Amino acid sequence: MKLANVRGRAALVLGDEIADLAEVSGGRFGPGPMAPYPHWAAVAEFSRGVTSTTGPLVEADLRCPVPAPRQVFAIGVNYRSHAEEAGMAIPDVPATFTKFPACLTGPFDDIEIAGETTDWEVELVVVVGRQAEHVEQAEAWSYVAGLTVGQDVSDRHLQFAAGGQFSLGKSRRSYGPMGPWVVSPDELADPDDLVLGCSVDGERVQEGRTSDLVFSVPRLMAELSAVLTLFPGDIIFTGTPAGVGVTRQPPRFLRQGHTLQSWVEGIGTIRNRCV
Ligand code: ZN
Repeated sequence: MKLANVRGRAALVLGDEIADLAEVSGGRFGPGPMAPYPHWAAVAEFSRGVTSTTGPLVEADLRCPVPAPRQVFAIGVNYRSHAEEAGMAIPDVPATFTKFPACLTGPFDDIEIAGETTDWEVELVVVVGRQAEHVEQAEAWSYVAGLTVGQDVSDRHLQFAAGGQFSLGKSRRSYGPMGPWVVSPDELADPDDLVLGCSVDGERVQEGRTSDLVFSVPRLMAELSAVLTLFPGDIIFTGTPAGVGVTRQPPRFLRQGHTLQSWVEGIGTIRNRCV
């Protein structure tokens, strides 16, 4: 199942068409983009029988697929390649911070660049599909609604100001583009091994595979749900592979006029203009 936010309404993506979830379900599911998550199993089962569509898939109509999660988790230093370039040790537990939900934005929305040190971080984003407490790794995928593409856009100056404040430095307005839709794990040949990357003005700057994650998706679900309860619609930015701008010699950052394109194999591509 592919679930999108089309102009503020939950919609299934069926090829190059969409099916408005509230319309095709006679009001049983939807209409808002967060409404499906507390009923994810029922929505998934219902979606298998949907064949009629309600309109064409129009890129400009796509909004952030998970615009109002109750909790947003983000994991630092979660690829060995990124730990090496940053000169940081690999943590024993997930290095967890939040991106405040106000920063989340759509897959083709503009990024409003603030300051001189705004950096890119392409990430696989997990969307939780049912309430999770003390989840075992072996069961963890069954708690995942789906996966999407995210950019953990980071203001490096603000991130390390005042002794370090990752959450604020990664939460500037529009610094959390996501999308283009949420893809359920059963649509992916191997959800534990997906190629991801990003480019700036067409030049590839990051590429990695999620099989190189230090803490895999199941491990993150287990580690986080051991500490607190995960709720349907919560999201986890799982960390970024090597190739960020700040560790380059000389460092490189996003500037007005740049186009940042980010992709994850089997999910899709998001594209954001820097303004
Ligand atoms: Zn990140």
